[in-house]
Amino acid sequence: MSAQLIDGKTLAEELRAAFKTRVAALTARNHRPGLAVILVGEDPASQVYVRNKVNACEAAGIFSQKRVYPADVAQAVILAKLAELNADPKIHGILVQLPLPRHFDEKAVLEAIAPEKDVDGFHAENVGALAQGNARFIPCTPYGVMKMFEANGVDLAGKEAVVIGRSNIVGKPMALLLINAGATVTVCHSKTRDLAAHTRRADILVAAVGKPRFVTAGMVKPGAVVIDVGINRLPPEEGGKLCGDVDFEAVKEVASLITPVPGGVGPMTIAMLLANTIEAAEREAGQ
Ligand code: NDP
Repeated sequence: MSAQLIDGKTLAEELRAAFKTRVAALTARNHRPGLAVILVGEDPASQVYVRNKVNACEAAGIFSQKRVYPADVAQAVILAKLAELNADPKIHGILVQLPLPRHFDEKAVLEAIAPEKDVDGFHAENVGALAQGNARFIPCTPYGVMKMFEANGVDLAGKEAVVIGRSNIVGKPMALLLINAGATVTVCHSKTRDLAAHTRRADILVAAVGKPRFVTAGMVKPGAVVIDVGINRLPPEEGGKLCGDVDFEAVKEVASLITPVPGGVGPMTIAMLLANTIEAAEREAGQ
């Protein structure tokens, strides 16, 4: 039997339509939300992500400011720009597109963003708050996944959840959110022994690996909810299309609910960035 689709594209569109009202209310009170995006270098995927984020801001009525720097820019230049943005009252959210070039100390850059403008939720202070179950900003991708659970009536309390991937951007915050929601959580990674033994126990399986079609049907418990965070570009000989970490065609025959790629977690990530920016502006406006 084929799984039901969790349609991230439609859900993101619904959320974004609702955001417009909140943005209009803030703008009417002279608190128009503003997002600054910093891109260093010319990574084509990062360029696409930044363009999509800026376009989404414009569509929602959010003020956006994009700054692009060459890959060899000195870290001090970026730190100075962040200090300027931290003090800019038009800007409520600041995002530095990752990954940064190798000569950067990524942690130092992320910590230079004022925690109350850290709409990606990567500042240590915000990670700590999330770990304590008292989040100020939830990182956008796992936040989007939680919204998908909510919108599709997926009850997490008491469920076995397995997250494949332990990155600071996706895997770890995803695991924290699932713990906070009452799931029993296992985090797997490249050192995990017998990965399939873990994934086959999962009522909720989240794949954030970065390997095309890594999760096969045999790794999935019948009836599981499968969330595919992966965005991988297939090689030209395989059509060059985008592909997730899950073997969608096979796994949809085993799962009860599944996200597609594209049209799943990706659009939700952008929607939650807008949500965090609006929330930052509402806080600043005293709402
Ligand atoms: P990272 O490369 O930072 O992390 C990948 C994780 O997968 C690591 O924890 C790694 O383990 C683990 N891993 C690698 N190989 C294996 C293996 N054979 N078995 C088990 N675990 C393994 O990636 P990200 O978390 O940043 O991103 C993951 C994917 O999600 C990518 O495809 C990325 O493009 C996509 N993504 C999508 C977003 C969206 O909006 N939909 C947003 C962000 C990312 P270890 O730690 O041991 O190395």
